[in-house]
Amino acid sequence: MALILCGQLTFGQQAPVGYDDTPMQPDGKWHVHDGTRPQPPIVAPGVTNERPELAPADAVILLGTTDDLKAWQMTDGAPATWTSKGGVLQTGKGMLRTRREFTDFQLHVEFATPTEVKGNSQERGNSGVFLLGKFEIQVLDSYNNITYPDGQAAAMYGQYPPLVNASRRPGEWQTYDIAFTAPRFGANSELEEPAIVTVFHNGVLVQNGNAFWGPTSHRSVLPYSADTAKGPIALQDHGNPVRYRNIWIRALDR
Ligand code: MG
Repeated sequence: MALILCGQLTFGQQAPVGYDDTPMQPDGKWHVHDGTRPQPPIVAPGVTNERPELAPADAVILLGTTDDLKAWQMTDGAPATWTSKGGVLQTGKGMLRTRREFTDFQLHVEFATPTEVKGNSQERGNSGVFLLGKFEIQVLDSYNNITYPDGQAAAMYGQYPPLVNASRRPGEWQTYDIAFTAPRFGANSELEEPAIVTVFHNGVLVQNGNAFWGPTSHRSVLPYSADTAKGPIALQDHGNPVRYRNIWIRALDR
């Protein structure tokens, strides 16, 4: 494993923040998790997200203000074991997913990374929103935390950094508003249209109609397969105590 040493820390240490022994991304510009890729500019968001945003009338509430997790299960089909109190969901062991599957949708997610800052780079407030269970929009504490740009908050993990870093402070509530179009496949399972995503982070545009190269992955480039045509919304357990609240979706099935 060849970690590139860069990213200055407060105490003069150097943190490993990227890789140079990973495959080149399909456009040939950067390695997967390239630590030398430019860091997105920091933009302070205008919204405060102090209160949960009200859902539109036709939204399906996946995580509301009650403690129940009836919309969710573990990825192996077992009952949900993460805990929710007053509508605040705490990450637990194993990945959580919606029971329902989706194709195209508008998704609203609110999250908060731990108030107490622990760890660096990918080990600080790491979780993730997995669209169709396959395409990760990274959740990370990216406030004063340098990591490889395609792995910071609001990145299409391992593929595209966000256009800007609109992260709020650790412990503060943040929002993702996501418009997603599922990939389309032909009669012989050949890819006809890739998955497309637009993401607003705390109200700031950070992914603008970007196509995924395939399912997201650590240190690799994965091809599309026809089983990525639909799937659940899933939340990642990366061993860090991230909180979620107020998750709703508007399915746009064609
Ligand atoms: Mg993650």
